[in-house]
Amino acid sequence: MFSGKERSAILIVDDETANIRALSSAIDPGHEVLFTTSGEKALAMLEEREFDIVLLDVTMPGMSGFEVCERIQNLSACGNIPVIFVTANITEEDETKGLEFGAVDYITKPFHNAIVRMRVRNHLKTKKQCDYLANLSNMDGLTQIPNRRFFDESIKKEWARSVRSQSTLSLLLIDIDSFKKYNDNYGHAEGDSCLKQVAQTLASTLVRTTDFVARYGGEEFVCVLPETDLNGAMLIAEKMRDKIEQLKIPHLHSQVTDHITISIGGYDLIPNSDLNPQDLVIQADKNLYEAKNRGRNQVVCTD
Ligand code: GH3
Ligand code: MG
Ligand code: MG
Repeated sequence: MFSGKERSAILIVDDETANIRALSSAIDPGHEVLFTTSGEKALAMLEEREFDIVLLDVTMPGMSGFEVCERIQNLSACGNIPVIFVTANITEEDETKGLEFGAVDYITKPFHNAIVRMRVRNHLKTKKQCDYLANLSNMDGLTQIPNRRFFDESIKKEWARSVRSQSTLSLLLIDIDSFKKYNDNYGHAEGDSCLKQVAQTLASTLVRTTDFVARYGGEEFVCVLPETDLNGAMLIAEKMRDKIEQLKIPHLHSQVTDHITISIGGYDLIPNSDLNPQDLVIQADKNLYEAKNRGRNQVVCTD
């Protein structure tokens, strides 16, 4: 692990194709190398898909490398993508500026192939380590779906995005019915296994890349559905409820039926700066409480 030898995606941005060719031949073979000749196009590509490293020229017609680098830092989709400047600008001032704009390294032209190869290799290795740790710290160990920390961070970003776009954000709170009795009667290990199955099934219901479900705590899950109103949220919630019921995990001590079921409370709103994500959770929780009250194994989504 972290040998830096796995196949990575590298983006080379340079207005001169001769430079792109030279750089491509300098880096280790086996990586996926894509290139483009302008900063604007590079940003579009970075919005489209993931890259592990960007090799960036400074002086280009249109947007300068410095500006591209600054914008990359603000692209949430890019996470911690390392940028290396490869440039003929060799002054101390330029190099300082490049690093201030967030680049992890600064290579001057003409470059030595072996040095470029090693620097790229080292930065890719660090990127892999960062990705691994980020993934670990956002993942719930038992259920292998995102954890509460991931939810807390993501809902803030999703909220801000929805305030900007004035789009509807929906949230579902999902709770396993009579789960204490399940643990008491089948044991904690069976309880854990059930939690895992439920979590994986909930996650498998979602198809949009912007939707996610996280473990909120104990036997409760939270699902975030951006750009989705309550009608859409209700459809997804009902699909989740049905899928869990179809698992037919035996639960002879449930107060609902003879297998595992879930209750779901949902709520939607158009975020604004007078509200905060907690308001959405509180309202969804009220509806979850209502779903439990009405007999469990059901969805309640009301405004
Ligand atoms: P309700 O239908 O009202 O939701 O009842 P409930 O029994 O599901 O709810 P309650 O909150 O009383 O109990 C939740 C239980 O979930 C308590 C605990 O035994 C169990 N639980 C919470 N986290 C875990 C876990 O990580 N593993 C296991 N096995 N059980 C857990
Ligand atoms: Mg419960
Ligand atoms: Mg609970």
